[in-house]
Amino acid sequence: MALIRAYALAVGLLFVAGGLPARAAPGHTGARADRTEFIEHAIQGGRARNVILLIGDGLGDAEITLARNYALGAAGRLVLDTLPLTGACTTYAVDEWYPHTPDFVTDSAAAATAWATGHKTSNGRVSTAPGTGEALTTIVELAQENGLRTGSVTTAELTDATPAALAAHVNHRSCQGPADMLLCPQDKKAAGGPGSIAEQLIDHHVDVLLGGGRQRFEQVIDGGAFTAQTVTQSARAQGYLVVTTAGELQAAELRSAVGGAERSRKLLGLFAPADMSLEWQGQLAAPFPGSGPQICIEHVRPPHEPSLAAMTRKAIEVLDRSGPSTGWLRRRPGPGFFLQVEGASIDKRAHAADPCGQIGETVAFDAAVAVVLDYAATHPDTLVIVTGDHAHSSQIVPSRDVTAQVPGIYSRLLTPDGGIMTVYYATNAAGQRQHHTGSQVRIAAQGPQAANVVGLSDQTDLFHVMARALGLERDTTRTGFLRALAHTIGLQ
Ligand code: MG
Ligand code: ZN
Repeated sequence: MALIRAYALAVGLLFVAGGLPARAAPGHTGARADRTEFIEHAIQGGRARNVILLIGDGLGDAEITLARNYALGAAGRLVLDTLPLTGACTTYAVDEWYPHTPDFVTDSAAAATAWATGHKTSNGRVSTAPGTGEALTTIVELAQENGLRTGSVTTAELTDATPAALAAHVNHRSCQGPADMLLCPQDKKAAGGPGSIAEQLIDHHVDVLLGGGRQRFEQVIDGGAFTAQTVTQSARAQGYLVVTTAGELQAAELRSAVGGAERSRKLLGLFAPADMSLEWQGQLAAPFPGSGPQICIEHVRPPHEPSLAAMTRKAIEVLDRSGPSTGWLRRRPGPGFFLQVEGASIDKRAHAADPCGQIGETVAFDAAVAVVLDYAATHPDTLVIVTGDHAHSSQIVPSRDVTAQVPGIYSRLLTPDGGIMTVYYATNAAGQRQHHTGSQVRIAAQGPQAANVVGLSDQTDLFHVMARALGLERDTTRTGFLRALAHTIGLQ
């Protein structure tokens, strides 16, 4: 497609209506046939063996739409668009000292705390309560208590807010490594606390941790059993295999048969010193007359770093181990798992008003969704949920209306259906970091109890949806209601 766009740019065909092929006819919605039976079939109750939660950081409706428009054309469909049951999710945080007062624009820490624990908190907090700092029990902790395996995959640092909230409790998201504890003195191990986010992720024995942030794990621990060691050294001592390249990840073999009994190790992948590299690059948005028209430069991620899809595939492979062989009986299915997969830099590039960077990360996130749906096709007892943690700053605006009087910054992108899409950022001055926005976000799901995402829910509800589906919590009211509507049977 990029070649077609480049050719169009070169020969000046851009403004010729209908000059480029579209993937599907304009106006095609995929819903011309009656979908009632399809949706009835998609509504199922029962217990989920596994939950896979895919989070696009900063993936609001505008961010989904502009990625679709650029990658596939306006009538195209992303993989994440194909999930059968969809709703909207509210995302606000609360005030630190007046926790009944909303803070209408959440950050990633408070948002992740909401689905990880079922509780609202204030911006900056990681699975701790506003005001008191009390530790809030997380979905990963509950899953572990119930014998499930757990995993976290991200393109950010593993200690960044979204993955941190799964298995760490600190008073501020910046407390990522033992040397980063300025805002969390009471959490330091030397002060008798649980330590930094990096330390807590390892001490929690999350089975699979794949992402960036190696420098946090190279910092030295200042108290407790592993004092004077790096976090990576403590991870090895606690049974982790540590890998740092795509090749090592691919080759990682975690099972070993010892005396007839299979033993497994945990996996820590640290593929970059900080955030992992971007998939695409291009011109940043700019003040009038803007940047572009442009075509993004794809495939810029260095090959020694795995893609989000590759990390997701490996995480599932490691987490979905069968139980021990029972001789002539077939292998037991083994415990289920909880896995969170985060496309982190959608947000980070939207902050930078970098439409190509943002779209490339969204396309890479969509490829990870495809990996998960492939797995779910053969493992229908998997609840798959795809959502964003908050909306972001990017908007699609009318190209002809951008003038010198427009206050924001923008870029024009050439789409594969022959259009020019103007992407606009105006939540801060040119050259400044763009802000999150407070809109609801899409939530889509399939699998057992997926119907609970239909309609409008809040991020705190997502905790209960996942916990209940895994049998960590009991309340099937809403599923039962939707199931009755659809006249299906089979809820246990
Ligand atoms: Mg994040
Ligand atoms: Zn952000």
